[in-house]
Amino acid sequence: MKLLIEHCQKLNINELVRSIKSEFVKTKLKSKIDSLGQDINITSTKCHFGNERLWFVCPACKRRVATLYKPQTKDILLCRKCHDLKYLKSRYSKMKGYL
Ligand SMILES: [Zn+2]
Repeated sequence: MKLLIEHCQKLNINELVRSIKSEFVKTKLKSKIDSLGQDINITSTKCHFGNERLWFVCPACKRRVATLYKPQTKDILLCRKCHDLKYLKSRYSKMKGYL
């Protein structure tokens, strides 16, 4: 009787590296976030080749975002939409359009 690969325990170095990296990144992220003194959740989505993509969960709107902002005048990290932030460039190009 032939031994089947499906019935073997599998140890794949790439999968191991991936899981170690992801654990490491999550731990590092958590300590970084803790140092900011604000409760920010992290979530992940699966993408190609079984990789995980990590996201911040905006504390206000609960959307998945890659970047959170803290304006000089405010004391909280939120996403761009919640802070109603605009890019200098887009404001400038709109202004140019009005002229
Ligand atoms: Zn938000």
